[in-house]
Amino acid sequence: MTVVRPTGFAGLQFDNTYARLPPAFFSRVNPTPVVNPALIKVNHALATELGLDAVQLESEQGIQIFAGNAIPDGAEPIAQAYSGHQFGYLNPRLGDGRAILLGEVVDRSGNRRDIQLKGPGRTPYSRSGDGRAALGPVMREYLVSEAMHHLGIKTTRVLAAVTTGEPVYRETALPGAVLTRVAASHIRIGTFEYFYVRKDYDGLKQLADYVIQRHYPAISSAENPYLALLEVVMHAQASLVASWLQVGFIHGVMNTDNMTVSGETIDYGPCAFMDIYDPSTVFSSIDREGRYAYGNQGAITLWNLTRFAECLLPLIDSDIDRAVEKAQTALGDFSELFNDFWLAGMRKKIGILGASPGDEALVAEFLQIMRDGRADFTLAFRYLADCVAPVSSTSRFHQLFTSCESLLESWLTKWRERLAKENVGAEEITARMLKVNPLYIPRNQNVEEVLRAAVEDGDYTLFEEFLSVLQHPYTEQQGKEKYSRRPVQSGIPYKTFCGT
Ligand code: AMP
Ligand code: MG
Repeated sequence: MTVVRPTGFAGLQFDNTYARLPPAFFSRVNPTPVVNPALIKVNHALATELGLDAVQLESEQGIQIFAGNAIPDGAEPIAQAYSGHQFGYLNPRLGDGRAILLGEVVDRSGNRRDIQLKGPGRTPYSRSGDGRAALGPVMREYLVSEAMHHLGIKTTRVLAAVTTGEPVYRETALPGAVLTRVAASHIRIGTFEYFYVRKDYDGLKQLADYVIQRHYPAISSAENPYLALLEVVMHAQASLVASWLQVGFIHGVMNTDNMTVSGETIDYGPCAFMDIYDPSTVFSSIDREGRYAYGNQGAITLWNLTRFAECLLPLIDSDIDRAVEKAQTALGDFSELFNDFWLAGMRKKIGILGASPGDEALVAEFLQIMRDGRADFTLAFRYLADCVAPVSSTSRFHQLFTSCESLLESWLTKWRERLAKENVGAEEITARMLKVNPLYIPRNQNVEEVLRAAVEDGDYTLFEEFLSVLQHPYTEQQGKEKYSRRPVQSGIPYKTFCGT
């Protein structure tokens, strides 16, 4: 007999598996109400995906829920416990200091999704923090996570954003906001570290079993499910981070508490998209040593996975030496796996579907010319699609490069020779390239302009406009040129010696 559950507000039907885990996993805590919440936006497409009524979510009752002033039927608010390595150093007690999980729902495709408030007030993990979020970062997360989703990159999403009517104090007083985040789960490498550093191996096993059941049920019958867990998480993160590199995304804070075991991008803090191609690009002001630079993200993924593997050792084998050996063998596959994901995507970016031994060198050479010629990463791939047939050196593609004309010409010739092996017409190659190389990404200059209008003037027109542009990143949109323009600085001639 099927159990009929009463339909909650706006169709919300919670089924909270994490809150049924033992008390060590979380603290029960309610959001702290705010004085005067107002709606910024409900994400209609996501609401529909979740089987929720977006119009009801926009009602006064919806706003009260998104602000943390009302708790919907069936929600069981908790703050999740986790640890994490921050910039290489272990912090044994982090946890949701400014986030509260309302609960889980099953979406229309049958996938379980967390619904979490970010910025709803203090929790037992807040330490000296206020548990709040400022409007600017909330809007940045909304814009960038939607952009990532529409670029086909796995990510947490934003269901809604509201202002609180209360100030938050950073360096100055800023308008406060609460974001509602939807994720496959919020379980991080740091969640495993939390139990590992406490030597709570029962908790660790419960967590691993939970993750297997929730995210990777197929491996539950593997010969060694915990070793298999390391392998599938490695797979998910290698694929994710390779996809970041393909769009020029820099996460900014790849601490182990910011890496999900589901393989979704999470925590859009000081993240940004690179303009001029340079692997040493760092945007985060706190990352002084470039630990999380664009080109270091693959290596850091392996570093983080090594921390994950350490946590799993007690589960992988009761003999520690054997456990280490098995984990090391698994991690030994990372570099090739990561490179395969990366190369597969890069081939597509230059219009290649097949595979030829020289492809990796071809891609590497293009990147080197881009770097030496100070070219914009996004537009260099986008406008390369113009060049399947030879074009003049005054083309918009050539204009992206401040130098390296002869190297560029000889590379283009080599590339066209390679394209000839694809055995399809130029038009088809151009069309394929335009489907994988975005014209619109959330460029820093545009994001900043949108945030300024919202924070300083309470004006969300630009936010709406930019969001709608980013929902179709591959389609040229009339009148939206300002969102595809490279920043002014990159137009400054910059001469450099061109290596090969
Ligand atoms: P993040 O840098 O956002 O990944 O956060 C790192 C840790 O600091 C997490 O445990 C957060 O919950 C916590 N945290 C960040 N900002 C605040 C805040 N304003 N209040 C309380 N905790 C915070
Ligand atoms: Mg975090």
